Amino acid sequence: AQAVVDEKDPTAVALGYVADTTKADGKKFPKHDNTQQCNGCSLWQAKPTDALGNCALFAGKQVHAKGWCSAWAKKA
Ligand code: SF4
Repeated sequence: AQAVVDEKDPTAVALGYVADTTKADGKKFPKHDNTQQCNGCSLWQAKPTDALGNCALFAGKQVHAKGWCSAWAKKA
């Protein structure tokens, strides 16, 4: 299985990634909303129901379905 992204990974820190969207830094990212999750992001590369999935921004690692980062973009 692929490794899961650690919130302390440099890329994760740079993007403000959190494994739980409700833990996102709302002060730093005022556009964040708890309804925004990785599994509803256009960069999510898995089924909506998968607990973990790949993300275009984290090569070779998986992010949490309920995670979030500042590159979140609503799936069309
Ligand atoms: Fe999650 Fe989207 Fe950020 Fe990737 S780009 S970590 S899928 S919110």
